[in-house]
Amino acid sequence: MHINSKLPNVGTTIFATMSKMAKDYNALNLSQGFPDFPVSPELIEGVYHYMKAGFNQYPPMTGMPQLRERIAEKIEKSYGTKVNVETEITLTAGAIEAINATITSLVNKGDEVIIMDPAYDAYEPIITLNGGITIPVSLKQPNFAIDWETVKEKVNAKTRMIIINSPHNPTGAMIEANDLAILAEITRDTNIIVLSDEVYEHIVFDGRAHESVLKHEELRQRSVATFSFGKTFHATGWRIGYMVAPDWISAEVRKVHQYMAFTVHTPSQLAIADYLENADHYNNLGAFYQQKRDLFLDLIKDSRFESLPSHGTYFQLLSYKNISEKPDLEMAEWLTKEKGIASIPISVFYDTKEDNKMLRFCFAKSEETLTKAAEILCAI
Ligand code: GLN
Repeated sequence: MHINSKLPNVGTTIFATMSKMAKDYNALNLSQGFPDFPVSPELIEGVYHYMKAGFNQYPPMTGMPQLRERIAEKIEKSYGTKVNVETEITLTAGAIEAINATITSLVNKGDEVIIMDPAYDAYEPIITLNGGITIPVSLKQPNFAIDWETVKEKVNAKTRMIIINSPHNPTGAMIEANDLAILAEITRDTNIIVLSDEVYEHIVFDGRAHESVLKHEELRQRSVATFSFGKTFHATGWRIGYMVAPDWISAEVRKVHQYMAFTVHTPSQLAIADYLENADHYNNLGAFYQQKRDLFLDLIKDSRFESLPSHGTYFQLLSYKNISEKPDLEMAEWLTKEKGIASIPISVFYDTKEDNKMLRFCFAKSEETLTKAAEILCAI
């Protein structure tokens, strides 16, 4: 028998690959982005409470109303924007399902989708699966800023979507208010939908503000913004995220969501709704992770790795250009197998597989893990 693969050039994601390698070689895992410390006991108690209380059947396709209400409040507090609880918020199986349902419902065969390279590895295969054409535009070095001049040149009648991601995975770069102003200008009077991947919205450092498309009155009218409770509440395994979009866009995306995941875990939704009542639970996240970033950077300051600025996310890019000429995939493999520390090579996020001798390290880790990681890195 033969399968005519829809994704002939896609293997297993780099995150799964490196996490498996870390496990097989008993290496510290700073590759895949997930915390190694526990979820709040209060939140866990909440899930248990609702399971025992019998909330174990299907919730509405769009998510539990209590949770959508809390999300609307959070959006108003964070971004000053009112969203409609019924028509504009949809709970999804992680932000990735929101991204998948958005692209699947809105991108037709031959439509062009502009993404910024290096880009999160999921966008391109999902666009390809839907017959869309990915148009990569490289972020500008050294700050990984969006190259709007090139974006403007690439926009044409076939452009259906522009995907932005801030705080940015894998680089930790962030867009500014002016980027949104330019994007609004580029998309004005077009049919372009903006997909804004904002899963690290609360993990921002050094007093910076996250610029959500939801803050921008005009852009918001053509945007789907995606968010993640996995990132915000240290529970990446719970697979709960959500999307916010105007009613006419949400209605279209929900047509796909209802057959893709239909809905997500009821007791967790109810527990998260309660937990969201205390805004400290998300507003303190930036300071919490900044302390980890600073600890990690301080511990490796005498190493031969060079750090790039990380303004948000829980990722730190390190350049090893002073250490080795190895391609980054080989370097990541060598570090895992021979030195006992796993990271993510950055070339995989580029359409061109461009290799700038950079690795991504996840610092969502306990002090103990970060200390051990730094010891290894300093000895190289
Ligand atoms: N978002 C996570 C990261 O960047 C990976 C998620 C996954 O493994 N699918 O590391």
